[in-house]
Amino acid sequence: MYDVIIIGAGPAGLTAAIYARRAEKKALVLEAKSYGGQIVNTPDIENYPVCPHISGFDFATNLYEQTKALGAEIVFEKAVDIINGEKEKEVVTEKGKYSCKAIIIATGSENRKLGVEGENELIGRGISYCATCDGAFYRKKTVAVVGGGNTALEDALYLADVAEKVYLIHRRDSFRGEEATLNKLKERDNVQFVLNSTVTALKAEKRLNAIEVTDKDGKVTEICVNGLFVAVGRIPETQNFGKTVELDESGYVVAGENCVTNADGVFVAGDNRVKSVRQLVTATADGAVAATEAVKYINQL
Ligand code: NAP
Repeated sequence: MYDVIIIGAGPAGLTAAIYARRAEKKALVLEAKSYGGQIVNTPDIENYPVCPHISGFDFATNLYEQTKALGAEIVFEKAVDIINGEKEKEVVTEKGKYSCKAIIIATGSENRKLGVEGENELIGRGISYCATCDGAFYRKKTVAVVGGGNTALEDALYLADVAEKVYLIHRRDSFRGEEATLNKLKERDNVQFVLNSTVTALKAEKRLNAIEVTDKDGKVTEICVNGLFVAVGRIPETQNFGKTVELDESGYVVAGENCVTNADGVFVAGDNRVKSVRQLVTATADGAVAATEAVKYINQL
């Protein structure tokens, strides 16, 4: 019997485990893939206090080691269900069941697909969702990045160092991503902005070789590319928990800044929570808050 089970080993989940262990609670972290969550794909984090520059991978590895050193157990199994009993809770994984007193859902989010015909078939053959993972395959080649958030801007900047030419395609003419990153991109000679435009078709023989882009006036342009990096946002990974906690219409877990859900003893932390700012710093903050609330809950049982 664990005091707390944390579902997800991203920045929110691992921070929650640190706080749970420092409160001397027996903590288990369950992770479906690998530790670190989406931040491992960020080449250079520049907006986390005290670290002017750190790679997402190094950040995640430091956090993972810190969590393990504090005595949290980390098991790589996908949680598929929660059984929220009155006295005892259970997290069901693909391999078994673990019981606990409190649960923190910190499952983050997954890549949103572009939704263009042929996208799935071309993954690994020209379509990628991770510039740091796949960028090196496009050395001295031509790539496009689609999206207007921080991920798209950071991916385009990273690829500008690797590829011969980078097109940044965005459906509007203003960006959600940070101004500072946008300004750095504007200084790059090999980055071309394609604004008010969406990718409407993918052209391929064995691999992607061109994309069709349609602007807001309906004008269609074909752009020859070797790779297309899709960075059009994320969707919360909460599908398995909708019968336990309330989700909003987009699938985010409904909870305020205290990370307390509508289900007794079940808390949420990170990008899968309804919130206005989804950043590394708010994810780790959520982890601290959720664990503190979970500890309070356990102590009054
Ligand atoms: P995001 O901020 O949600 O941006 C998604 C972008 O994709 C938006 O510009 C959106 O356009 C566009 N888009 C959505 N669906 C589209 C479609 N079907 N076709 C074309 N374009 C589409 O997602 P994100 O950039 O992945 O970032 C997710 C969160 O992580 C954000 O809160 C971000 O700030 C954070 N993040 C932080 C860091 C960091 O702190 N260093 C790094 C990366 C990400 P519209 O703008 O028109 O809606």
